[in-house]
This record gives sequence, structure tokens and C-alpha cells, in this order.
Amino acid sequence: MHWQYSMSFDSLGLAEPLLRAVREAGYTTPTPIQVRAIPAVLSGGDVMGGAQTGTGKTAGFVLPMLQRLMDKPATRDAKGRIPIRALILTPTRELAAQVEESVRTYGKHARLASMVMFGGVGMQPQIDKLRRGVDILVATPGRLLDHHGQRTLDLSHVEIFVLDEADRMLDMGFLPDIKKVLAVLPQKKQSLLFSATFSDEIKALADRLLNAPVLIEVARRNQTADLIAQKAHPVGREMKKDLLTHLIKDNDWHQVLVFTRMKHGANRLVEHLLKHDISAMAIHGNKSQTARTKALADFKKGELQVLVATDIAARGIDIDQLPHVVNFEMPNVPEDYVHRIGRTGRAGSPGEAISLVCVDENGFLRDIERLIKHEIPKEIVPGFAPPSHERPEPIVLGRMVIGEGAGRGGARRSGAPHRNGDAPRNDSGRNGGGSHRQAPPRPQGPGRDGRSASRPPARLGSPKR
Ligand code: AMP
Repeated sequence: MHWQYSMSFDSLGLAEPLLRAVREAGYTTPTPIQVRAIPAVLSGGDVMGGAQTGTGKTAGFVLPMLQRLMDKPATRDAKGRIPIRALILTPTRELAAQVEESVRTYGKHARLASMVMFGGVGMQPQIDKLRRGVDILVATPGRLLDHHGQRTLDLSHVEIFVLDEADRMLDMGFLPDIKKVLAVLPQKKQSLLFSATFSDEIKALADRLLNAPVLIEVARRNQTADLIAQKAHPVGREMKKDLLTHLIKDNDWHQVLVFTRMKHGANRLVEHLLKHDISAMAIHGNKSQTARTKALADFKKGELQVLVATDIAARGIDIDQLPHVVNFEMPNVPEDYVHRIGRTGRAGSPGEAISLVCVDENGFLRDIERLIKHEIPKEIVPGFAPPSHERPEPIVLGRMVIGEGAGRGGARRSGAPHRNGDAPRNDSGRNGGGSHRQAPPRPQGPGRDGRSASRPPARLGSPKR
């Protein structure tokens, strides 16, 4: 690891069981956000953290949280149960599962119980698990509120509250749910808010939630990591699939994460790759949780060569040392480019981000370059040059028309950014479910409380209580 801090974990004030778990995870040096967040959280104050996935933020809040809970054993309720003392809210099921896995990894030698909770599965198994006692609950908002509504969950003893990826939560329309959760949490608690971006909405939420927070910002937004080599291949509109196939075969790429704008585009691309003997699967909101989990697991193991994802579906995917990210279609929201390519070149290992840009997408590329403040090198792959007669055409997304050909300079650029990829869907089916393709744009990622499995509460360390 090449973190510029040479500090060791030992000097951060963490107890031995946690240091041991950190050693066993193979970490030698804390990342910049860990150096700053761990002491801040240990001191008991509120924290506002500006950090993207990949910075080590999870350990930055989980380690000190575990320590604070270990330091102050739980008081059991009248029925002898351990109350929920820490609540971590995440926007997606995938992220919830990953964060809870981190809680178990770092809390391996701590005697604390954790549980992950999200929608789409039966309530009863979750109720049973809650009854057995949970110190740390990692949840997506919808199912949490379902439980609260049914009085199967007591949040009145929460001492530490974490809002992870708060910007994505707001993007996904979770603000009303967050407000509902805040309303049922105790006034007196330690609150931590993590967000990759600081919009006015995030600031307003922070004002409401946090009390004299310590501000910690590591990698500034919109800065693409130096470790990522970026390249754009201008290509004919109809040649993208063949170019991708060519690049994968010619360079013998494995573990390629490919982004498309819409889920049907993802499916069509997978069919094409399969036809050319490249193992590929798509993950997006229409896939079952089982299919997504399997695709991700196979991809991580290196058994699946290509994973095709939409922006929202990819959110929260944590793959160490992902070598290649391909923008099969350029995102029309420039910030999504930063999020997409942030999947590679992580934790000190180099990565490559390739963009396939057709004439309709030149405007998107320019917007991205303006955002990241540098030009992306262009390189035409022989045999795949854009035909000289090709003129920009509008890109149609549902009812929306975007891109170079959509009027002068691209119709979308004047208004608020639109997010695409997965159709909006109601949360947890609580409001009747259903899939509404068009406005209001409330994008629905795979990880929202929809369908999926939950895990039993993991007992961390020896269950002595
Ligand atoms: P996060 O930003 O929390 O999603 O973490 C990104 C990745 O970095 C995860 O896969 C962690 O396992 C890894 N990681 C976290 N902290 C460290 C560290 N101090 N040294 C090396 N890897 C780390």
C-alpha cells in the first residue's frame, strides 16, 4: 500500500482485539481518512466525512465504533435483550452487506453482534434475529422503517448513528425515509455522516443531524485518482460491441467492469459477449438478488471475465484491485464518470479506465474533461474509427432526449443532471411497488430495499454474554 502517511495503526488509540483484526486483514498502514476519523470518532464527537468508496472509510468509522461499544458494555432491557446501540444506514443492499462484512472482519475479536437488514425477504427471520440481540445493525432505510412501523425493532437505545454514502441516499430519493429514521432515534447520540460530495442538500442534512462535527475530507471530489490511466477510443456508433470484444481478446483482459447507461443495453451487450466466448453477466435492478450476488462473487473470484453494470447497480460494489473499467456508453452525468472509474486503481494498485466514445457522446466527454480538469487522451483503434459520414444523433432515454444530436449542444446540459440506468421503483414495495419508467426521476438501484436475502446476525468473537 502506498498511503502517504507513515503512521501505524498502533498510535490511533485502538484496543488490541481491533488491532489484531486489522493485522489479520493484512493492513499495515492506516489510510488518510482512517488516521483522521479513528481518533475523532473515538473521542465521541460527530464527524462529517468527505470520502469516496476506496479510501478506507468503512474501517475509518467501524473500528472506532466497535471500540466505543466494547468500552461500554450494553445494558440489557427488561427481557434480558441487548439493545441496538449502533445503526449504520446505507443506500444499497450491496453496500449494507459489505459494511456488515467489514463489521464482522474488524470485530472478529470483539464480543459484539451485528446484523444486516434489507427488504425483499420475509420479515420473520429478521424479527427472530433481532430478538436474539444485535449491537450493530446495518440497514437500508425502507426495511428498517417497516420493522419500526411493526414495532419489531427498537431504536431508542442507539448511541452511534452512521449515514453512509449520504449523497447517494439523497440521489435515490431516500431523504423522507432518513428524516423518519432520525425522528425515532434518540436526540443524544454520536452521528457520523459520510458523503463523496457536499451539495447544499447534504449540507442541510448535516446541519440537521450533526452537532459541531469534525470535518474530514480526503480525496476531493471530482479528482480522478492518479493511479488510473484514462483513455478514450473514438469509435463508430455501431462498432462499440465489436471494439469491446476486440479489446478484451487482444489484451487478454480479465475482470473488466463495463458500464452501460440503460439496463436493456447491458443485456444486449452481455448477449454479444457470450456469442464471442467471453463470459459476461449483467447486474442491474431487474436481476434477482441471487443472480446479482452470484455474478459479483464469480467476478471477484475471476471466474467471470466481464461484469456489465448500470451506474446505480455498480454503486457500492467493492472489488479490490479491479484492473479495467470500460465506459461502453459515456455517462450523461459527468460525476458518474468519476464514480465509475473510481472502481479501479484502488487501495494503491494501478487501474485502467477506457471510454468508448461515439459521435453522439462527444459533448459528454467534453463535460467530463471540464469536470476532472484535464483532457483524456484519445486513441483510435485501427479498424474502429468513426465513419466520416457519421453525424451526431440524439440519445433517447425513456422520454428524455439527450446528447449531441438533441438540439444545440445537447439538450440535457442546461437542466439538472438526470440519472439513468435503472427504472425508478418504490422502496420495499411499501407503496405498492411497481416500476415507473419515467419522471419523477427517482432512480432505483439494485441495492434498494427490494428483493434479496438477509444474513443471520453474526456473532463477533466468542459469544460470552
Ligand atoms: P472502503 O473505502 O471502506 O470501501 O475500503 C476500500 C478497500 O480498502 C477495502 O477493500 C478495504 O479492505 C481496503 N482497506 C481499508 N483500509 C485499509 C488499509 N489501512 N490498508 C489496506 N487496505 C485497506
